[in-house]
Amino acid sequence: MLQCTAVTQAPPSDAPDTVVPPSFLLCELGEHDAFTEHAAFLRAAEPSSAPALWFFWTGTGPDRSHRVASVPWCPAVLRHLGTGVVRQCAFPDHHPAPHSWSVTDPLGDLIAERLLSGDGSDTS
Ligand SMILES: [Zn+2]
Ligand SMILES: [Zn+2]
Repeated sequence: MLQCTAVTQAPPSDAPDTVVPPSFLLCELGEHDAFTEHAAFLRAAEPSSAPALWFFWTGTGPDRSHRVASVPWCPAVLRHLGTGVVRQCAFPDHHPAPHSWSVTDPLGDLIAERLLSGDGSDTS
């Protein structure tokens, strides 16, 4: 599943002081229907397992409605049977669409590939 492509502008008026530019927020969820809130990560809490701050919105332009909320992390984990590596879902709890490990971000993958094959490879 591809990542949702929704982008919105962060409202400077009611966004927390700690939110700094870029002022555009990208939905991080997998593709979902138009009636479901988009979710953009704003700020991690301390400790990092505590509820983080998220920006939720629906609609675009003048029809947009949004809220900023502190939401617990999705409790889902994925254990890789071969390596024993455990990944925690990187989305807020009760998110729509699949968990984070099922969402592909072609642009992010492309950037990662360039970093790996580029001249930044000082480790073998
Ligand atoms: Zn979305
Ligand atoms: Zn999840």
